[in-house]
Formats: sequence, C-alpha cells, structure tokens
Amino acid sequence: MTSAERLFSRRTRAYTGARRTRKAAGVADRDTRKETEPEAPARGPLTPTLTDEDAGLETSLRPRRLEQYFGQETVKRNLDIAIRAALARGEPLDHLLFHGPPGLGKTTLAMIVAAELGVSIRITSGPAIERSGDLASLLTSLQSGDVLFIDEIHRLPLAVEEVLYPAMEDFSVDIILGKGPKARDVRLKLNRFTLIGATTRFAMVSQPLRDRFGAAFRLDFYDEAALSQILHRSAGVLGCEVDDEGVAEIARRSRGTARVANRLLRRVRDFAEVKGDGRVTRETAQGALEHLEIDALGLDAMDRELLRAMIERFGGGPVGLETLAAAISEESDTIMDVYEPYLLKLGFLQRTPRGRVAGRLAYEHLGIDLPPLSSRPSMPAALQRSLFDATEQLGTGEDEQSA
Ligand code: ADP
Repeated sequence: MTSAERLFSRRTRAYTGARRTRKAAGVADRDTRKETEPEAPARGPLTPTLTDEDAGLETSLRPRRLEQYFGQETVKRNLDIAIRAALARGEPLDHLLFHGPPGLGKTTLAMIVAAELGVSIRITSGPAIERSGDLASLLTSLQSGDVLFIDEIHRLPLAVEEVLYPAMEDFSVDIILGKGPKARDVRLKLNRFTLIGATTRFAMVSQPLRDRFGAAFRLDFYDEAALSQILHRSAGVLGCEVDDEGVAEIARRSRGTARVANRLLRRVRDFAEVKGDGRVTRETAQGALEHLEIDALGLDAMDRELLRAMIERFGGGPVGLETLAAAISEESDTIMDVYEPYLLKLGFLQRTPRGRVAGRLAYEHLGIDLPPLSSRPSMPAALQRSLFDATEQLGTGEDEQSA
C-alpha cells in the first residue's frame, strides 16, 4: 500500500471518528440528513415521485432504447455520441450524473445507456447504502463494463461516498480486514465500470463527488410535443385508444413530467371506460381532469393552496420555506421536491435569499388583484419590483439550496 493510500484510509477512519463525536454531541451532518425525497407524498395523481400505484406498470411503460426516449434532445445527442465513442474504443463509458426534478426519466435513461452499451445494470439508491461495506461488496460484484446506477446520490452517507472516490477514479476499493490492533488495509482492484448517479438536488452533491463524473446532464421539463409522443407510446403499450386532441389535453396538464403524464393517461382511460366508450378524446380527458381538480396548467388543489397561502397570508412573500410548510401542513422537503420545481418553471414563485415570493403570474392565474407596491410594508419598492420581474427572467432555481 502506498503512503497516499494509507493516508486515504486513515482519513476515512479519522473522519468517521469525528463524525461519531459530532453525532454524540447532537450535531447534524450529512449522514443524518433527513430523508429528502418523499417516497409517496399524499398528493394524488400529480405526484412526480414513484407511488405504489405506478410500481406495476412503470416497468412496462419504460422505453428500452434511446430512439423510444422522447424529448431531452440535447442530452440524448450528447449521450449517443459518448456511447458510440466508448463502444468504438472498447472502453467503459465515463461516469455520468443526471440531475433534475423527479419523474423526468433519469432512471429510464440510465437503463437505456446500459442497454445501448449491451451491459448489465445494478440499481440502488443513496439511502439504501448505509455502510461502506455495503458499497464495497456491491462494487466488487460488478462485471467489466457494467453500469452501477445510484439514485438520489446526494443522500449517500459521507463515509460511503469516500469509498466511491477511489472506486470511480482508480477502480479500486480500500477495505479494512480484521479489528483492533490486527486490522489491516487491503486494496482491492475492481472491474472497470460506469457509475451513473441521479439526483433531484444537484446543489447537495458534494464538489469532490461532482468532480469525479465525466459529464453531468440536466434533464428539463418536457414540452407538450414531447409529452404527447410519450403518451402515444404509452397508450400503445396499455392498449388504450386515444386521439391527438385527448393526448394534447393530458400533455398540457402533466406538469412537464413524463411520470405524471403516464399516470394521468391511466386515470383518463378509467374515466373513459366508465363514462364513455373507452376512447380517450378531448372531452373525456377534460372531464376526467376536472374531476381530479387539475386545472388547465396542470396545477391541483394543493398547488393552489400553497400559492394562496403565500399571497393571502404572507402578502405574497418573502416567506420562509418552513413557515410556508407549517401554514399548509406540508413537509418542507415535499414542497421543495414536489411542488416548487414546476411552480418555479411557470414563474409562479421565486426563491430569494429572504424566502419564497409569489410572482405576478400566480396572482393572475388565481384571479387575485396584484397589490399596489406600497402595500407591501416589509420590502423597499425597488426590491419588490425586481422580485416580481425576476419570476419571468430567472430559471427554475432547481439547483439552489433551500432559501
Ligand atoms: P426519474 O428517475 O427521473 O424519477 P423515471 O426514469 O423513473 O424518472 O421515469 C418515470 C416514468 O416516466 C418511466 O416509467 C417512464 O415510463 C417515463 N418516461 C420518463 N422519461 C421518458 C421519455 N423521455 N420517454 C418516454 N417515457 C419516459
């Protein structure tokens, strides 16, 4: 073992020791991060995360090859080139990081990458790997060229993450054999593999981990055309008769999210079977979506309650995330992961250093008069104006930390 390797294992142990002390002292660190991704928040058909209801059909609806994966054109183009180049060189693909809101197709894309490369994929997630040993045994079981997919990679415990560094860089892991004075470090060589990490919180992926990925791809919300293609394909898989207008109606109200689109399609199909002849048309889609209280922009009752609370109870903001969460009896993580990304995308709210601010478009959508600037006491008029304008100029803010 080289001195650098020894230093690395010492550093890992030293850190773990420090962490125990900090934990004993009640200091939170990244290992004690709260579960950030709600597994199945109670938010009905617009939940972008995987719910029990999806579990069965998700597998059959997943496209298997790149040409069946609609939208995300830039990401697809770049991946296609990287995959071809790796195949031509006969080498494993660089490690990749996919980031973006839930339900946009990160897992699907990782599976497609493996299929295009003709290799196996192992799927796990950050919170599922609790100890360094779990990761070490996973890594040593990989065959040459395999893809290891770690979902919610920002939730890997730090001690585990440090095992990943040499694995990604040198395809090796350091393990400690034995206990006490007889313990010794052993370096194991791994087969070359490709790590694909996915995260909904890019800002929470540590810099050292980010640096070890060959490329990071941001998945964005789908436009109506791409969602319509996804829906047509899914309707074919489900054996459900649809027309273009029915599909467009569902696409428009799917929050730019593939998983939501597929779920709404199933709901509309049920409605069409009960109320009509089973065909998904504009009328059946509108009827079903109204029944589900999903409005023309894809907002549901909870989105509207959140915006209303910001406007009516906090004068449009700025309001802190925790205060807002308490006001609508919702988890702050659920607000951040589930509600906000699409509301930010629509320009309905904005994250600012002082809290969340409702945008002018939110007032318009809810039919509430925009208050005169002078009636917003806590902020200077110039700042208020700039915050309202910012909703149209800035991006989704998905990569920002909680304000
Ligand atoms: P994420 O990992 O980002 O949460 P998934 O990859 O699990 O999202 O995708 C959710 C569902 O949406 C999948 O079942 C898949 O059927 C569908 N899906 C996602 N992206 C696409 C796409 N580009 N084309 C077709 N279907 C897609």
